[in-house]
Amino acid sequence: MAKILVTCSECAEDIPLTPKRVSSRICVDNGDADYRFSCTACSTINVKPTSPQMIERLEAIGVEIELWSLPAELREHHSGPMLTHEDLLDFHIHLSDDEGVAQAIEQLLI
Ligand SMILES: [Zn+2]
Repeated sequence: MAKILVTCSECAEDIPLTPKRVSSRICVDNGDADYRFSCTACSTINVKPTSPQMIERLEAIGVEIELWSLPAELREHHSGPMLTHEDLLDFHIHLSDDEGVAQAIEQLLI
């Protein structure tokens, strides 16, 4: 069985792992890829960037590959001013006003 030699970013141990102990994912939108494993020496979960070419090699030896997409919200067009820290503070204050929140929800439902 193939072994993958990985290095833990926490304890710097070189660890040979079977393909089932490594998982990988690649973004279908931009090709960003990474692989993940749990260090057998210190139990740290490692996530490391890699290349689409390395993903192909990992898949060839049996590593599970997950495909993912960027959130659809990134493709939405936004207009208007940017949200500021002060806007968030105002929103926080408004949320503490139960009656005001109830009235705002009622207006949305009309
Ligand atoms: Zn480790």
